[in-house]
Amino acid sequence: MKTIADFTALVKLCIETAEAKYGKIGPVEIRCDVRGKTAGYAGWKTNRWTGENSNFVLRFNREAIAKHWDEMVQVTIPHEVAHLVCAAHPELGGRDHNWKWAQIDRSLGGNGERCHNMELTPGRKTSRYVYKDSLGREMTVGPKHHAALQRGKYGLLRNRKTGATITRGDYLRPAA
Ligand SMILES: [Zn+2]
Repeated sequence: MKTIADFTALVKLCIETAEAKYGKIGPVEIRCDVRGKTAGYAGWKTNRWTGENSNFVLRFNREAIAKHWDEMVQVTIPHEVAHLVCAAHPELGGRDHNWKWAQIDRSLGGNGERCHNMELTPGRKTSRYVYKDSLGREMTVGPKHHAALQRGKYGLLRNRKTGATITRGDYLRPAA
């Protein structure tokens, strides 16, 4: 009853309601792959020449769906679908979270508010990794270099300034 498939079905239903009220939106890709504090996301591509929007995508937060089903269904779905209505029908005058967007949101059952107050786990910031270098000092590298070293893509990495090197086995810990 409260699966991702059920959630997706409710999203489709809301899109149908919106299309009945405001006109065709077009194919919408629905994904539940948002992480962190974002509950939902509406995206599209704008044609550089005509200014028309297409390639609509709605993304939702899986953790939020699991923990806050009612708010996600009653608030977040209409919120994001209202963004698509505004993008597909710019003649309506809806933009960002302006009054027209809020009016469309409310007409789809939403609350017309721009922010959610669900408790969600913050997304991870890009991590950094600490190694002990060949001079015995600590060297911090970013995720790309860390992954390359650990997967063996590089056997060794040299710090251009100090000349010190690190290898896979020199990894100490994630940076705070
Ligand atoms: Zn919004």
